[in-house]
Amino acid sequence: MLTLDLRSDTLTKPSPGMIEAMYTAPLGDDVFGEDPTVNALEEKIAALFGMEAALFCPSGTMTNQIAIRLHTGPQKEVICHQYSHIYLYEGGGIMANSMASVKLLTGDLGKINASQVAESINPDDVHAPETSLVSLENTMNKGGGSIYTLEEIKPIHALCKEKGIKIHLDGARLFNALVETGESPADWGAKFDTISICLSKGLGCPIGSVLLGTKADIKRARKVRKVFGGGMRQAGFLAAAGIYALDHQVERLKEDHHRARLLGELLVQAPHVAEVLPVATNIVIARLEGSNPETYLQQLAAKGILGVKFGKDLVRFVTHLDFGDAHLEEFGRQIRRI
Ligand SMILES: *Cc1c(COP(=O)(O)O)cnc(C)c1O
Repeated sequence: MLTLDLRSDTLTKPSPGMIEAMYTAPLGDDVFGEDPTVNALEEKIAALFGMEAALFCPSGTMTNQIAIRLHTGPQKEVICHQYSHIYLYEGGGIMANSMASVKLLTGDLGKINASQVAESINPDDVHAPETSLVSLENTMNKGGGSIYTLEEIKPIHALCKEKGIKIHLDGARLFNALVETGESPADWGAKFDTISICLSKGLGCPIGSVLLGTKADIKRARKVRKVFGGGMRQAGFLAAAGIYALDHQVERLKEDHHRARLLGELLVQAPHVAEVLPVATNIVIARLEGSNPETYLQQLAAKGILGVKFGKDLVRFVTHLDFGDAHLEEFGRQIRRI
């Protein structure tokens, strides 16, 4: 039986070309700043986004948490959407790592706008934590892979600059957004103090995320990475995968999006599916009726299809590098038989 593992785009295995790049990477000790491949990855991605510097880390949780540590602290507050990864899925790290407070906003498809942010900035008052950071997510996982356009970001960025508030982007899947909109990485780099990018999602690397920022911020970030236990030694093996992914596996994200849209169309017609959220990138969220996520996912698993529960009556499927046309066909055959 073919297994269609659509639980996440983190499940991909390195492609043959990527493995070759990893095997042949020149190595050094990155805690000493001497791994040439890590340095090359950091320089390459910083240049791509027109930002001064970058830091290679083991996970996107770490890059986000380092950014939050840089921009907040005790008695400070970060503004974000209530469904943000930094709030929901990082183990309470905002408090545990930075001792900061959070203001959660609501908004369609996981997105927030400048007027909401403006209303949420605390006054300079002895009672209130100081608003020091706004954090956005693109694409928005809980919003069904929804996209922020640069036009939507501009007024939030302008407001933050006016108020002296830092702005961070959890860009775990930023490249998924950019291949859809055609916007340039450099235009995004100009609108954020820090950006976190995952190499281990749609880009297909086994491990790794990158934090982008100013030279001064990345210098501080390097110290925070050390205290978080994220200083790695011959990490060039992993950085080589990142360089390979940036060179060869960005444009192909469009294929994932195409298959996700087709998968959504198959799901809408399938039994027990009430609706499918708009499919903008590689994430497909379906609302069930006449079943529940536990039962439905069990029935799917028996037919070789894996997804995850994503709410009381929601299930999520994510397309990726290791999900091709044959897998999509098989999905179509099986999903009708539940
Ligand atoms: C996956 C993900 C991260 C980082 O997760 P790690 O597993 O720690 O790499 C951050 N933000 C979003 C939106 C994600 O989907």
